[in-house]
Amino acid sequence: MKFWSEFYIPTLKESPADAEIASHQLLVRAGLVRKLSGGLYTYMPIGLRVMQKITQICREEIDRGGSVELWMPHVHPAENWEKGPRWNAAREIMFRADHAGSGKKAGAEPEFVLGPTHEEVITPLVKAEVSSYRDLPKSFYQIATKFRNEIRPRYGLMRAREFVMMDAYSFDADDEGAIKAYHKMKAAYEAFFKRVGVLAIAVEADTGVMGGSFSHEFMVPAEVGDDDVIYCEESGYAANREKATSGLVATDFVVAEPIGEIEKFATPGVTTIKGLAREPHNIPADEQFKTLVYIGDDKPFLVLLRGCDDLEEAKLGTLGFTLVRPATPDEITPLMGAKPGSLGAVKDTLKAADQLAGVFADEAIKLVGNGTTGANEDGFHLRNVNVTRDLAITGWGDFRTVKAGEPCPTCGAPLKSRRGIEVGHIFKLGTKYSECFAATYVDDQKQSHPMVMGCYGIGISRTMQAVIEQSHDKDGIIWPWAVAPFQVLIVLLDPAMEEAATLAKTLGVAAELAGADILIDDRDERPGVKFKDADLIGVPLRITIGGRGLKNGVVEVKWRHESEVVQIPVAEAASRIA
Ligand code: ATP
Ligand code: MG
Ligand code: MG
Ligand code: MG
Repeated sequence: MKFWSEFYIPTLKESPADAEIASHQLLVRAGLVRKLSGGLYTYMPIGLRVMQKITQICREEIDRGGSVELWMPHVHPAENWEKGPRWNAAREIMFRADHAGSGKKAGAEPEFVLGPTHEEVITPLVKAEVSSYRDLPKSFYQIATKFRNEIRPRYGLMRAREFVMMDAYSFDADDEGAIKAYHKMKAAYEAFFKRVGVLAIAVEADTGVMGGSFSHEFMVPAEVGDDDVIYCEESGYAANREKATSGLVATDFVVAEPIGEIEKFATPGVTTIKGLAREPHNIPADEQFKTLVYIGDDKPFLVLLRGCDDLEEAKLGTLGFTLVRPATPDEITPLMGAKPGSLGAVKDTLKAADQLAGVFADEAIKLVGNGTTGANEDGFHLRNVNVTRDLAITGWGDFRTVKAGEPCPTCGAPLKSRRGIEVGHIFKLGTKYSECFAATYVDDQKQSHPMVMGCYGIGISRTMQAVIEQSHDKDGIIWPWAVAPFQVLIVLLDPAMEEAATLAKTLGVAAELAGADILIDDRDERPGVKFKDADLIGVPLRITIGGRGLKNGVVEVKWRHESEVVQIPVAEAASRIA
């Protein structure tokens, strides 16, 4: 039982200027977090309580999912990452953690990095620990801090630089075992999100370079989400846009259909569209696609990925793509051998640009920046290009984007699309990491095999905010019971009145015995302030004790998600609560 006057819940009337979405505003206004710097937050006392509850539910369900908890270092020797399969790409998001005395010069290779994820740590660990088929399967997880130098941290805890993740890693002797582990974990995720009280839908996702044969993302439907979910109400088919658009998925570099308006730029004859390219950081730099050719049904476009010819800029996450140079199908088709309505990815920007410039030799190709990219609006011309180089088309996507209204691939019913927040992700990894780190075991015939891995992540802090995004009204947060910082708030309208204070404690003890966490608002504040704060911090059950009510022998009970206030006799209150 906590007393508000002794606890610390700094509620605010105003939202901070940088909080664009409701859940971010409420996190701050209800006193759950305070910002240190972009993407870096302190969890204030009630924020921490919610985090601890979500963490505990997660722990219980992941335990049930067959994984064993441990704790790994968050400062990693860069060496581990150099050995791994994605150093070049992943380092873009990693904070360096060199120590001052290391003697390394600025700009030189880092000696230590802060962990954005832990495949490069767990795989060598398991290699050292496990060598026989008898010790398999094994699965380990931790619930801990992750560090990612996101280019654009935003929306509070949604995209932070330091955040809390549950990350699990499974090791099996064969594919069949790995698939079992995957499904067990998927069931654990479903149980977790259900208990937390948030609707999260498992959607098919690409495996991309992770090389696995399946992957699901758990999406909380919300307009403010960074992802698109394509789904069918008839068949239950649901996939993220990358998976649904397919075709390029094998590259882990995926282009969504152009989003946003087609804009006419100031430069006559040049059109710009905005689109999304996802996670090129997952693939080695030399395999990154830098140029895309989108051949629309009626308007073919050359699309250059902004920043991707400059790895520093490309970094990670969602990039805008830009540069659109309209051409006619006649011009493009012979070059690409592609059909209208398809999307091609080309390995090298300049080569592709050379080729296209060759095709359109009489007209300079213009690179045009858009607002998202901050590129130079004047663009620059590609001139003096050499058309004799080969254009390496590494993948042609079936770019008839699966989108709202088209046939569901399963049943043919019209597909719908909506935005979602990725709160969790599961991957069947295969042997990519175990081969890299020689994490092998010997079978009963003394034959050696790489272990078959899976990896799994839940954004704990992102989930906390997704709950708020999904469950709030104009007055504040509406916490689901299981993760509420307190489940019962007892509001004392006359805190100085002894009879009221005693009753509050009696009711508090009864509710505590019933398993709830109790907060007593004993502040010397006006009732209006107390009720406003109660709604803002979103405690599910409010019990109000006032002098007038006591005279009539009643207390007032109100659920946060209902508008009705019910009076119950004081004599019954304790037993009703229990
Ligand atoms: P996103 O697509 O949003 O960048 P991700 O695919 O890079 O996320 P994963 O590597 O799959 O993230 O990590 C597992 C989970 O960690 C994600 O599903 C998400 O819930 C959470 N997460 C990832 N990045 C962040 C971040 N910057 N801030 C808060 N949570 C994050
Ligand atoms: Mg990311
Ligand atoms: Mg993602
Ligand atoms: Mg992910």
